[in-house]
Amino acid sequence: MDDCTITINHRGAARLRGGHPWVYRSDLIASVDAAAGALVSVRDERGRRLGSALYSSASQIAIRLLSADDIADEALPELLRARIASAVRFRQQTFDDSTLPGLETRETRGTRCTRCDAYRVIFSEADLLPGLIVDKYNDVISLQALTQAFDREDLRTLVVESLAEHFHAASIVERVDPHIRELEQLKPRESQLARGDRAKTIFTLNDVRFHYDALSGQKTGAFLDQRENYAAAARYAHGEALDVFTYQGGFALHLARVCDSVAAVDASRPALEIADENEKLNRDRHRAGEIEWIEANAFDLLKDYATAGRQYDTIVLDPPAFAKTKRAVPTALRGYKELNLRALKMLRPGGTLITCSCSFHVSEAEFLEMLASAAADAGRVVRVLEKRGASRDHPVLLNVPETAYLKCIVCQALG
Ligand code: SAH
Repeated sequence: MDDCTITINHRGAARLRGGHPWVYRSDLIASVDAAAGALVSVRDERGRRLGSALYSSASQIAIRLLSADDIADEALPELLRARIASAVRFRQQTFDDSTLPGLETRETRGTRCTRCDAYRVIFSEADLLPGLIVDKYNDVISLQALTQAFDREDLRTLVVESLAEHFHAASIVERVDPHIRELEQLKPRESQLARGDRAKTIFTLNDVRFHYDALSGQKTGAFLDQRENYAAAARYAHGEALDVFTYQGGFALHLARVCDSVAAVDASRPALEIADENEKLNRDRHRAGEIEWIEANAFDLLKDYATAGRQYDTIVLDPPAFAKTKRAVPTALRGYKELNLRALKMLRPGGTLITCSCSFHVSEAEFLEMLASAAADAGRVVRVLEKRGASRDHPVLLNVPETAYLKCIVCQALG
């Protein structure tokens, strides 16, 4: 590929100098003839060097900076291999850390953690590999290219080969998100096995087991970012529990180990069917409270239950991202408030609320303000026990607020 230089305006340059790796298309100067997914060298208006980046000809995020140094095309494979190795090493160190919350009692054999075998191996910008996501579900590695660059044949091969070296016994599946391919103007492609012969497996989080099928049409797999929050929830949960937006039972299965009963709600029947299968996987392994899977719209159900005067000792709220854009924030906050208000009203004295938001556009401060207002309206005194984020395999980059998207507040309704 030919070397290519892209010049960006003052705003784009200020963003890069401020430590954020993205430059928007509107901040590019002059017409750009770089190839889709090319490695480009970035300059400011005065011709000063800003570094090397991966270019997208389609996305609004036109440039994702790879390095503040100029990188030659021939040097790219080595740089990417080194970054993959470093991401893998970081996770292995994290998993060797016996202070990992929720895993204090895990049994380890060498570096292998037997109570938790699923985690995010590569988290895009946070691992200096912008546009690449890799998750490990026991012996199945699932990778996803979010950009034109990581969809390039040579880079896909490099990533697969590199992962195969680090996880030799594992199968590797390239997962495709049709929506992302459309945004990046990439030709439709099917998810496929790139190595090995397994796409299905059973993985373990905090000693709780789950089914995974990397090639099923239905989205499967855990919200791995909640792993440590599941363990935290189980530390505070008690009595009768309600898990709202349960998906495939992530929180519910953890709560069942410490609560007398769990009602778990989701609008998706296919998700609840897998949740039920997951419950069967765990049934004989632990003393577990009964789980009732309820297919319903969470807003309607909470309203009906609150009106009927139902009460719980533990409630989890983990809705999908309500604010996909900045403009959607006020509506999202109203949605969060409705849910949290009803939940707080239904908590018995001393009851625990575990309430989450994965909307990056809603800050932790806004989320807490919403919660305070819900508590006031519900007439409850609420004590914050923990302010949490995503698990440590989803690290936060200080200058990239998008990496700090998940909020999980654990609180207690007094009196
Ligand atoms: N708590 C889950 C993740 C939840 S993801 C875990 O830890 O694994 C969000 C879930 O909300 C999805 O399963 C989706 O089906 C569900 N959902 C979205 N809108 C809903 C609604 N209005 N009522 C009930 N469930 C809804």
